[in-house]
Amino acid sequence: MSRFQLSTVYLCLVLISLTYSCNFKSPERKVADSKVSSLLSNMSLEEKVGQMTQVTIDLVLKDESSTEVDPDKLRKAIIEKKVGSILNVKGNAYTLDEWHEIIGQIQELAVKETPNAIPVLYGIDAIHGANYIQGGTLFPHNIGMAATRNPELAGKTAHVTALETRAAGIRWNFDPVVGMGRQPLWSRFEETFGEDVFLTSAMGKGVIEAYEKGDISKKDAVASCMKHFIGYSVPASGKDRTPSYIPERQLREIFLPPFQEAVNAGTSTVMINSGEVNGIPVHANPYFLKTVLREELGFEGLAVSDWEDIIRLHSRHKIAANPKEAVKIAVNAGIDMSMIPMDYSFYDYLVELVNEGEVSMERIDEAVSRILKLKVDLGLFDNAFPEESAIQNFGKPEFKEIAKQAALESITLLENRSNILPLDKKKKLLIAGPCANNIPALHGSWSFTWQGNDAAHYPESTKTILEAFKESFSDGEIAGDQIISRANADFDHTDNYDAKKLIADARLADVIILCLGENSYAEGPGVIDDLTLDARQIELARAAKKTGKPVILVLVQGRPRVISSIEADMDAIINAYRPGSEGASAISDVIAGEYNPSGRLPFTYPKRTGDIVLYDHKFSETIREDLPNTYAGGAYRPQWPFGHGLGYSEFEYSKLRVNKETISENESLQLTVQVTNAGKREGKHIVELYLSDLYASVTPSNKKLKSFQKVQLSPGESETVSFTLSEKDLSFVGIDNNWITEPGQFKAMVGDLNVTFNYQ
Ligand code: BGC
Repeated sequence: MSRFQLSTVYLCLVLISLTYSCNFKSPERKVADSKVSSLLSNMSLEEKVGQMTQVTIDLVLKDESSTEVDPDKLRKAIIEKKVGSILNVKGNAYTLDEWHEIIGQIQELAVKETPNAIPVLYGIDAIHGANYIQGGTLFPHNIGMAATRNPELAGKTAHVTALETRAAGIRWNFDPVVGMGRQPLWSRFEETFGEDVFLTSAMGKGVIEAYEKGDISKKDAVASCMKHFIGYSVPASGKDRTPSYIPERQLREIFLPPFQEAVNAGTSTVMINSGEVNGIPVHANPYFLKTVLREELGFEGLAVSDWEDIIRLHSRHKIAANPKEAVKIAVNAGIDMSMIPMDYSFYDYLVELVNEGEVSMERIDEAVSRILKLKVDLGLFDNAFPEESAIQNFGKPEFKEIAKQAALESITLLENRSNILPLDKKKKLLIAGPCANNIPALHGSWSFTWQGNDAAHYPESTKTILEAFKESFSDGEIAGDQIISRANADFDHTDNYDAKKLIADARLADVIILCLGENSYAEGPGVIDDLTLDARQIELARAAKKTGKPVILVLVQGRPRVISSIEADMDAIINAYRPGSEGASAISDVIAGEYNPSGRLPFTYPKRTGDIVLYDHKFSETIREDLPNTYAGGAYRPQWPFGHGLGYSEFEYSKLRVNKETISENESLQLTVQVTNAGKREGKHIVELYLSDLYASVTPSNKKLKSFQKVQLSPGESETVSFTLSEKDLSFVGIDNNWITEPGQFKAMVGDLNVTFNYQ
């Protein structure tokens, strides 16, 4: 049989299987599938390869402008190269009108002048709100959202993001990151939900369900993109896009479950890890892209490459002798769409490769049917243009309230010595440090620009911490000299590090609010060699201590910068993460006691840069060789453990009970605990349930988070919280790398209480 005959047979098989499976599908699905199959049978090879081609917006804009479409360039992309997808912004966020203009022009050409009238799929990173639309509502980054332990609230933020993104005419969002945050040096740590498997899975699920709503044709939905599959988040060196090494058992036990949950939650697309895992770039690895992603996780959606990562198989990873070979390797490994994105080389090479028989037509049809299916599901064939009526879903006042609530619930009170907080609003405050009067640090990466570090692009209404305190601590009046500060808006300005002036200014103040941390950064520019907070800031904290005035340290940062040399000198410490557009007022509300903080660390906060041990460590990680078989003073000695977080009320646990002492296969167990607000203030509180498998054939973890619940209690009030543990919760990845549950004893823990039970 010739190649042509073979591919015709294959296409027939695809069409037959689509028709056959149609019999078990809803009427809408049948219509969609038949639309895809009829398009496929009418498309030329070039049109199909064009669908797999994604370029950046720069290629269709006028050189001198960042928003004006160049008609000739657009024609080249859509008509000549038959491009199926465009992404990104050039430079900075666009207004809604600019988005409508750009997308309108793109779709006009695609729908009216291409042979099969296939609309373009526009994709964007709206990863903590609609960060590439001017005036979009920006929420805390994922790391802060994870501290809220509130997947429902994360869902609300995702819903607003979907509404605002769709209002711009964009229907594909490259979010969420469900890679595990287990390497705190990594410059994208803030984009993760932290180090725990259960927490990351739960938050990712909440976000994806809110983005997709089970029906991405709805005007309040967007297609989500679980990313970056797989292992990007744990580079061994800590540097962005450098190799990871992940043993099979860890892969299955720690890294895959959040992606499995994302697939179950209905995510439509996946973005692939730019890096290499165990020596093989993921873009070139059919084991990950086919066996694991498709066969094991059951993912049926579209797999898009990350930025330029196919060509990098040649230029960086050196597994392809030339760019054309890189295209062949990646497409054959299972990549459906190439984010090339700065030229059309992928298109040219892939057409040649199919004609030369190096890439089969079957592979092309498989990829293109996934792309077309997504376009059908998104309703692009019904209306590809920005939906005018969706504009009313942009910038509603209630979105700010959700942003504020998210910031409030994320803020994590790490220390509160002598209950110095909350502060009386009549106190005179000195507000100092590089984050005190700075907007980008509150927002972090992907905030109106990729790096988020240009204050000029933020809405005028965005407040710095200093401005928020001026408003709230003056009881509505102009604060005058109640708030003392010479904090400069520029993070690196020398005034922000002037210890002498700080000491002088502190004489006039009752309390120092010292705002330290990290300026905004994204990806490569955020790479650091040392987790320790930089010396200038450490010196400033020492100077603050010298004044003798109480010091409240506010940390604004994307990852846990080590502060062990000054920690004991601080009277209170708050971690605000990257709290977003309402972050400043949330910080001042917490310090003033208008909100009782309840955030919990979603990661282990290290004390020393050479002591990165995570909470779910193995027992032998805590052994000290100088004291054989002794765990005393062992090595899980973080600054603060995973799950740590204080409030202004004490919550007590009692009556931890299980409803049976032994469970067997397919059974579940009910666990209850009473929580009492023993303090004087109403507040939210997160109850976390951990489990420890006492002995197992593969060394068990110290403990693992299995569930959490958030309660809200008035002073004196109690509530009985109930958890269900199933056999799956007791399982682990065994010696043969499959999930198993072994008979034996388990210990369930809530706070200081624990209870044991058996599995048999
Ligand atoms: C990032 C992705 C992002 C893509 C498109 C890449 O540099 O790794 O997370 O979605 O750019 O902006």
